[in-house]
Amino acid sequence: MQNEPNSIEFDPHSQMIQFIWSDDDLTLAFQPHQLRLHCPCAFCRAQRVRQPFFVVQEDITVKAINSQRYGVQICFSDGHDKGIFPWSYLKEIA
Ligand SMILES: [Zn+2]
Repeated sequence: MQNEPNSIEFDPHSQMIQFIWSDDDLTLAFQPHQLRLHCPCAFCRAQRVRQPFFVVQEDITVKAINSQRYGVQICFSDGHDKGIFPWSYLKEIA
C-alpha cells in the first residue's frame, strides 16, 4: 500500500486521525501520541536508539496535517513537524 489515501479525517475534539483508503476498504486510525512516538524523522529515530524510553507527553495534540504525495507530515503541539510518515509506514505502526 504505497498510494495516497482517498481521504484523511481529523476530529479536533477526540484528536483521532483517520486515513481512509476506500479503494482498498482500509481505514487506519491513530491518536497523536501514537504517531509522535513513531516519528520517522532522523532526529527521533536517533533519540529512540539512544534512549531506552522515548518519552512523549500523553496529551500531545495535532496542529496541522499536510498530505504529501508519498506520505503525511504531522505538525504536533510540541512544535515538532519534521516527520513525514510514508503511507506504508502508517500501516506498519497501526
Ligand atoms: Zn521526529
